[in-house]
Amino acid sequence: MRNRSITRLLLCLLLVTAVAAAQTTLDIQEKIRQEETNHSQIMRTTHFLTDVYGPRLTGSPNHKAAAEWAAKQMTSWGFQNAHLEPWDFGHPGWTNERASGYITAPMLAPLTFKVLAWTNGTKGTVTAQTIEIDPPEKPKQPDMDAFLASIKDKVKGKIVLVGKPGVVPVTIDVRPRRMDDKAAHDRYDPNNPNAGQYGPPRPQQEPPDPSILTGAKINEQIDAFLVANGALMRVNDARMEHGLIRAFNNRTFDPAKAVPTVVLRNDDYGRIARIMADGTPVTLEFNITNKWYPEGKTSYNIVAEIPGTDKKDEIVMLGGHLDSWHSATGATDNAVGAAVMMEAARILQAIGIKPRRTIRVALWSGEEQGLLGSQAYVKQHFGTFEEPKPEFAKLVGYFNVDSGTGRIRGASVFGPKEDADVLRASLASLSDLGFAGAVPSKSRRLGGTDSTSFSKAGLPGIGLGQDPIEYFTDTWHTDIDTYERIIEDDVRKSAIIVASAIYELAMRDAMLPRFAAADMPAPPPETPEGGQPARPAAAGTTARPGSNNQ
Ligand SMILES: [Zn+2]
Repeated sequence: MRNRSITRLLLCLLLVTAVAAAQTTLDIQEKIRQEETNHSQIMRTTHFLTDVYGPRLTGSPNHKAAAEWAAKQMTSWGFQNAHLEPWDFGHPGWTNERASGYITAPMLAPLTFKVLAWTNGTKGTVTAQTIEIDPPEKPKQPDMDAFLASIKDKVKGKIVLVGKPGVVPVTIDVRPRRMDDKAAHDRYDPNNPNAGQYGPPRPQQEPPDPSILTGAKINEQIDAFLVANGALMRVNDARMEHGLIRAFNNRTFDPAKAVPTVVLRNDDYGRIARIMADGTPVTLEFNITNKWYPEGKTSYNIVAEIPGTDKKDEIVMLGGHLDSWHSATGATDNAVGAAVMMEAARILQAIGIKPRRTIRVALWSGEEQGLLGSQAYVKQHFGTFEEPKPEFAKLVGYFNVDSGTGRIRGASVFGPKEDADVLRASLASLSDLGFAGAVPSKSRRLGGTDSTSFSKAGLPGIGLGQDPIEYFTDTWHTDIDTYERIIEDDVRKSAIIVASAIYELAMRDAMLPRFAAADMPAPPPETPEGGQPARPAAAGTTARPGSNNQ
């Protein structure tokens, strides 16, 4: 009898404690919501990172100025130890300062284009006739050699259009811009065998025939050919609908290995090619000023902290990349992700949380060139599961946002199932904001964003999934990736969700459990040098031989 009473009393106490803890969490979540509703800084932060400091190409003075602004801003919010951490990018910084282009014959018309990064500008105004060259489909080296030999005398002094104009079909069925609630729940339900997936499963790809040249190899050979044979400029087709342009870079980062190159909107490229096909010569005029910055070889991650108390040597991290491509101000990719993470930590500071663990915000650079900044940071601070540094054991988790303006719908957590369970339970009360759940991940493959630099090392990288909105269809790396594409209500919701998640991990008694040594997945094979992580194919675009836009 006595024993039963004690058991009952203990159970009661446990229940009261659990209810009190849940109550505290709900109270804190309410304070977080209030702070974001009444004092949000998120659009102001986004404004500075885009309008004032964008674009933020890695190694460029703009990126460094944005980094310095972010560090100063976080200090002014009361964060400590805000600083820039250098890492070796190895390539000079580059900016495009001015660019104009016109059709000058057979009619006068302005052109809409973007410059390929890390190429030289023109020496003043250049005017020349165009020629179109059409590399063979899926060539092997002898095909490519024969093709280049056949056009050897034709490119000197010319502006060279590379490839036939792309036929970009008009989109009839627009992909939904929000994940519907059922899809979100299925994606973030650990009991669903297809959890973690969104949309139809991708077809298995045949392994490529190694004797067929890759798009990158074809481009490298065409660039070398154009330099060697005196072409004036190279013009690529953007191959996107609605005049969108997505311009990447000269992959060698060496201006001597490529002629000045632009990416022309599909509409202009098609018009020029069709007029040439009539047998009418076309003349174009360009004037492009690009600038190089040797000091850009050193780039910077930005780090700032809210120091912990009784468990201050344990760290909860959150972040995203601050660098962008150069065709617009890099709002959805990824100024707004940086702003969400800065805001989440600002909220916790503003409502007076004294976190048990240290909360550390990190904003990476070099993400767009292959997750370079975050990989350098992980290597320097944490090492890997196989070769750990002392701090390896002290990281609770790293949250990452990098998929545009859509509100956060769920989390994918590298680690045992219990980790995702912790997040799902503690954020269940935010379902009205769209948060649907969390699923475990075992993948150590380096993927499309910085959380995978952590997972690759065997650390708890936490990728946050978002409503697609216009991200992969319209804004990702394009010339319309601007402040105007941000939905304020969505990004405020994301900040509330992240702040709540960080609070939970900074305050709970235990760290998130890690994989037992026997369960730790094997590390992936190293990618070859210069290899870039896989990126999702965007609707309306296809990477094709002869196009080095992507
Ligand atoms: Zn990004």
